[in-house]
Amino acid sequence: MPVTLYAATTNPGKLRDFSVAASEGGFTVAPLPDLNEISAPAENEPTFAGNARLKAQYYSGFAPGFVLADDSGLEVDALGGEPGVRSARFAEDAGYVPRGTGEISIDARNNLYLLSRLRGIALRTARYRCALALARDREVLLTAEGFVDGEILTSPRGTGGFGYDPLFFLPQFRLTMAEISLEQKNAVSHRGRALRALLPGLRKLIS
Ligand code: IMP
Repeated sequence: MPVTLYAATTNPGKLRDFSVAASEGGFTVAPLPDLNEISAPAENEPTFAGNARLKAQYYSGFAPGFVLADDSGLEVDALGGEPGVRSARFAEDAGYVPRGTGEISIDARNNLYLLSRLRGIALRTARYRCALALARDREVLLTAEGFVDGEILTSPRGTGGFGYDPLFFLPQFRLTMAEISLEQKNAVSHRGRALRALLPGLRKLIS
């Protein structure tokens, strides 16, 4: 029987990234049962790793076996690593309201704010980073990180993915994260890379 890792996320994109990488190592990823009924802990650590540990420890109190938690986001070099752990709330934290757009999604607002912060700046390098923590019975057993390097464009391209993907350009494909195929995404995903980095430790743990 393959070992199942219960992921503390309902995001289908994240579940897919984790599942693909885990299956290569003979593991299965499933959503943590009844996650919607569990109140979420505050993610107030200053690092991705800190938030991943906090979540893994917390959610492993609600499910038997291995519980996988992640924290991820975008680090932009010209902004000193911002938005980092504040990626989901980048525009909101700054009180940024774009003019003349009407009602727009949180992702679209974050992207417009990012573009406004980078206006006139030539240095466009950035990376997506993902930190993972695996816990059982409220004890963190393993941690790992993965990242993917890219560049922030001056206007969005593509309709796939989520978050900052339409602005995140991958030089090796000459496409944005919102334009690449699933196969290409499997090869470069920061979440997939983090999970692959976790697998050797997991194998030792269960041997
Ligand atoms: P979370 O806290 O790990 O769910 O992610 C925080 C935020 O980081 C998301 O709301 C997105 O804005 C951004 N982010 C993380 N991973 C990705 C990705 O793969 N594509 C686009 N945006 C991402």
